[in-house]
Amino acid sequence: MDIKERYFNKLRSENMRLTRSRKAMIEVLENQHLTFKELQRALAKRGLYNVSTIYNNLDFFIKQKIVVEIYINDTKYYDLAMGNPMHSADSHIHVMIRDTNEITEVNSPDIFEYISNHPSMKHLDLDHIRITISAQKKKDI
Ligand SMILES: [Zn+2]
Repeated sequence: MDIKERYFNKLRSENMRLTRSRKAMIEVLENQHLTFKELQRALAKRGLYNVSTIYNNLDFFIKQKIVVEIYINDTKYYDLAMGNPMHSADSHIHVMIRDTNEITEVNSPDIFEYISNHPSMKHLDLDHIRITISAQKKKDI
C-alpha cells in the first residue's frame, strides 16, 4: 500500500470525510514540502481554486496530525506527518540545503530519544521535537 492510500484509509476508518479536495491535498503533498502558495498552485492545476477550502482542510489536517507545519528559514512549509517512513508528527529532522533550496529528511529516532530522556526534560511532557538544520554542500578543495 502506498503512502497516500494509508492516509485515505485513516480518514475513512475514522469517519472523516474524504472529499475530493482533501484527497488532492494529500496527493499533492506526498513526498514534498510545499509552501501555501505552492500548494495552492498545485491544487489549481487540478481545478481546485477555493482558498478558504484549502485553509479549512489544512486546519483540519493539522488538528488530526495528518499534516504538520514546519518553519525553515522563516518560510512555512506543509508536510505530511503520518505514516511517513522518515518521520511522524512528533519527530522531524529537516535539512535545508541552501545551495538548491532543497529540503531533505533525516530519520534517526535515537536523536529524539536522547533529547526526550535528557535530564532537563524530566519534568516536561513534550508535544513534539522538530529539528531544522541549515546547510550548504561542501566545496571540493
Ligand atoms: Zn518532512
